[in-house]
Amino acid sequence: RKLKDFHEDPNELSDIRHVIAVVSGKGGVGKSLVTGLLSVAMARKGKHVGIMDADITGPSIPKMFGTTGEVRGTSAGAYPVTTAGGIDIVSMNLLLENSTDPVVWRGPVISGVVKQFWHDFIWQDVDYMFVDMPPGTGDVPLTVMQTIRLDGIVIVTSPQELVSMIVEKAVKMAEAMKVPILGLVENMSYFECPDCGKRHEIYGKSHVEEVAAQYGLDVLGRIPIKPELAAQCDAGQIETVEGNYLSEAAAKILELDK
Ligand code: ADP
Repeated sequence: RKLKDFHEDPNELSDIRHVIAVVSGKGGVGKSLVTGLLSVAMARKGKHVGIMDADITGPSIPKMFGTTGEVRGTSAGAYPVTTAGGIDIVSMNLLLENSTDPVVWRGPVISGVVKQFWHDFIWQDVDYMFVDMPPGTGDVPLTVMQTIRLDGIVIVTSPQELVSMIVEKAVKMAEAMKVPILGLVENMSYFECPDCGKRHEIYGKSHVEEVAAQYGLDVLGRIPIKPELAAQCDAGQIETVEGNYLSEAAAKILELDK
């Protein structure tokens, strides 16, 4: 059987036009932040956005959006919870009795949950679904990619990492799955001094452009280290973040409509 034969259908009541996965080499580089900012950018373009928080053991999407609603279900399926800005979210955090409970499951159970997020939830009229993937390029993200038919992948890196190794792994995974890579986003790229406006590359010089060129990929954005950004995410206010660090990424994603 070809790999693509493994893709599973979404719920029969779902209507999802494009699905984009956001991946990273490890946790803590800002994959969820990028998923959130990309979703907000597309919503600001008038698109109906869904976010599947497939980072089951480290779900952070609901908190970022200040979403605490409960998942409702019928016999046909369950419904995502909608944020103040109209983005539909499904996350393990919305299903746990206490959002601080740890999720200690192993790979196969986690993969099973992601499958349920895909076919037991009714995703209505979604132009763009962003999948906040489990970190890394191991078994769990691979199973997610086999389950869900993706239109593209965005790779998030940070300057502290061995970027070329991570990109190479992601590129190989994408090739095996026959999914196009839309490009790279570098998070925590630099710090902009609030007093003098000068940019400081405090983790050293960024290698993202070189690495992108090496693999023929686009750099879709560079996000600065910004304590206010973290504070807004912690306060559940990502939908009111000013500015758009990811306008190139959003433009590239909009091309999927053509
Ligand atoms: P991941 O999804 O890769 O595990 P997160 O997006 O959850 O990473 O980010 C990890 C933490 O770092 C969060 O507390 C987030 O608010 C913070 N953070 C991420 N990117 C930035 C940034 N550019 N500036 C400031 N804080 C950031």
